[in-house]
Amino acid sequence: MAETVIAAHDVGLTYQTDDGPVFALTNISLDVAEGEFVSLIGPSGCGKTTLLRAIADLEKTTQGSLHVNGMTAQEARLARAYGYVFQAPALFAWRNVERNVALPLEIMGVEDAGGRVARNLELVNLKGFEKKFPWQLSGGMQQRVSIARALAFDPKLLLMDEPFGALDEIVRDKLNQQLLDLWARTKKTIVFVTHSIPEAVFLSSKIVVMSPRPGRIIDVIDVGLPKDRKLDIRETPEFLKIAHRVREGLKAGHSYED
Ligand code: ADP
Ligand code: MG
Repeated sequence: MAETVIAAHDVGLTYQTDDGPVFALTNISLDVAEGEFVSLIGPSGCGKTTLLRAIADLEKTTQGSLHVNGMTAQEARLARAYGYVFQAPALFAWRNVERNVALPLEIMGVEDAGGRVARNLELVNLKGFEKKFPWQLSGGMQQRVSIARALAFDPKLLLMDEPFGALDEIVRDKLNQQLLDLWARTKKTIVFVTHSIPEAVFLSSKIVVMSPRPGRIIDVIDVGLPKDRKLDIRETPEFLKIAHRVREGLKAGHSYED
């Protein structure tokens, strides 16, 4: 049996604002097993980022229980159980590629970080770009640097918040394929936020469909497609059937009607 990496039971998260409470997450129950690729999909405001940040202990849940690698979210954060990739690359302009990737290791005083940096750059296909600066790279390459940096401590869990949302479709296709390769090679557990249906179906072993006001899960879909996928799988009946179910879920949540 694969270990449970994320166990959420009846999780709620309410933000208190000047305009009253915002029910960002309600009744979230979800198990993510080791080695899964789980996508969170839903319209803006349905709580995708909040759920990812709660898993990362960057927000505190207000209800229910949430465990990461069998620890509380806070313990997991302190144990560096996850790497986090933000929507924008957030690289330091005055550091070259390898020094950006090395930063978390430097902060923690890890000596001999060079081998790890080289390995992680290789995993994102950036070998040969070590000395470039962020402004010399395309948006897709910058985001790959961020992914390499998130892998710094070789976490078992990778949390990714719409990492390719700002990229054009052709670049995104390529990065999706590369991410699947990375997933296969490293056997990481990945939780990936998107609002693209084809991206979610192409990448995932499991899709969590969410809906806003209040933020909740409305469907969890096991994607039965083979693990080694090529982009043309998107034209197969099996793929389209899953995409259809995601779309129906989003409609049922009235996600796009308001
Ligand atoms: P998504 O990532 O799916 O777009 P978010 O998790 O960012 O959704 O937001 C969920 C809901 O919580 C939205 O209504 C948003 O306005 C609200 N929200 C997010 N962050 C905060 C915050 N720090 N304070 C108050 N409300 C917030
Ligand atoms: Mg978001």
